[in-house]
Amino acid sequence: MDKTGQPNLFVLKCILTLISTLFLTTTPAFCKASHRSSPKTTDPNTSSTEPNYTSHIAELKNKLQNKGFTVILQKPFVVIGDEPPETVRSRSIRTVKWSVDKLKQDYYKNDPNKIINIWLFKDSESYNKHTRQFFNERPTTPFGFYSDKHNALIMNIATGGGTLVHEIVHPFMSANFPQCPPWFNEGLASLYEQCREKDGHIYGMTNWRLEGLQKDIRAGKVRPFKDLTSASEFTFYHKPSGDNYAQARYLCYYLQQKNLLTKYYHKFRANCKTDPTGYETLKKILGTKDMKKFQKQWENFVLKLKFP
Ligand SMILES: [Zn+2]
Repeated sequence: MDKTGQPNLFVLKCILTLISTLFLTTTPAFCKASHRSSPKTTDPNTSSTEPNYTSHIAELKNKLQNKGFTVILQKPFVVIGDEPPETVRSRSIRTVKWSVDKLKQDYYKNDPNKIINIWLFKDSESYNKHTRQFFNERPTTPFGFYSDKHNALIMNIATGGGTLVHEIVHPFMSANFPQCPPWFNEGLASLYEQCREKDGHIYGMTNWRLEGLQKDIRAGKVRPFKDLTSASEFTFYHKPSGDNYAQARYLCYYLQQKNLLTKYYHKFRANCKTDPTGYETLKKILGTKDMKKFQKQWENFVLKLKFP
């Protein structure tokens, strides 16, 4: 998407920060998702090209023998953790399976066709030690990160699990909507950093990003939606005007509250050849031509929100 991007834009790498209280809550995350290395997809209905999980897991188990890890197949991911087996199993079901099921229910048909390992290290000691040992990398954050190079989400799970859902959105977005611009990719992922189930669906709640956004709105630092939606990866990640993540998140939150979010996603995806930024589709779904007026209305909506 961004022709001026650095080589490291090929590397999907996320810096995560988390709260450990609720399994689907989180604190500040800076996460950069690349859209240029779109993985091929696997249609679950014609899954003859499904990756070979059996040999992948056998290799992992062999490598991890007697090291105290539990390996669980939680398609399309493999979850690996060194907490007690029942805890790893519980996280695999309550966070990974739950979010995958809910995201697929509302948004995604295709699974990523490569196997992504989700490493849940039990504490900072394990996380630091194993990141060096297994990946020859030094963690740049105490919380966790996603490495496209290693097809791995590497986490210090002691800090919580909310951003796991944020990260899970990205490979699914790549597999289903590889043209998705950064604002919507990060907006949707950020929306589900703090989420719960509502009426059988995944539901994003207000979170820590609200306070900064409210400050930016009061300071007049929030960019027009036309600029946000057309921001390249370089602009979105490196040249924020206010907090791009927060603006994108609370636009998605607004659409969710108006029951327009899933409808918007599907229309945007269908129209992306003629409307690659999603801006025109946004105007249509909002039923407005006056986006200046809408922005004011949205800002007032955001200023009334509360967190916690
Ligand atoms: Zn992200």
